[in-house]
Amino acid sequence: MAENGPDGFLGNLRFHVLFFLYIICCMLSDEQIISTRICPEPNTGCWIWLGNLRPDGYGRVWRKGNILAHRFVFEYCRGPIPFGLTIDHLCRNHWCVNPIHLEAVSVRTNIQRGGRSRQTHCVHGHEFTPGNTYIEYRKDGIHRACRFCHNNHAKIRYHRRRARP
Ligand SMILES: [Zn+2]
Ligand SMILES: [Zn+2]
Repeated sequence: MAENGPDGFLGNLRFHVLFFLYIICCMLSDEQIISTRICPEPNTGCWIWLGNLRPDGYGRVWRKGNILAHRFVFEYCRGPIPFGLTIDHLCRNHWCVNPIHLEAVSVRTNIQRGGRSRQTHCVHGHEFTPGNTYIEYRKDGIHRACRFCHNNHAKIRYHRRRARP
């Protein structure tokens, strides 16, 4: 019976398989990880992390230790994160790794924004679901907007333009 115990043949085999997987993960280049673990989502523009997810919804990746996937992609695309800064998800989707939806901010700003993120509906009462959240690029930065209102405004603008003589 000792054969199947943790120190027996099967325990050893499990160890070897894990060790082998660990070596493969270390051998994968950053480019290979980026190109195989990301799936763009057309509605929101978010990049879904296909790799491992933490219980709190953040992606993780093995790069000389377990690191957060969005921090890894951010550093890969936009350079090192300055010391003391934390990464804020503008789209509020923890699993999103799109560097455009990520911003390096101070912890204080992140907490202040946390208050704003508790706002669950837009000014017209539409819920900020992942599908209804729209990332808007303005001169002063990137903002979260309501997709329904955005489409509505576009329609109104269109009809106004057509009604003009
Ligand atoms: Zn996103
Ligand atoms: Zn709205």
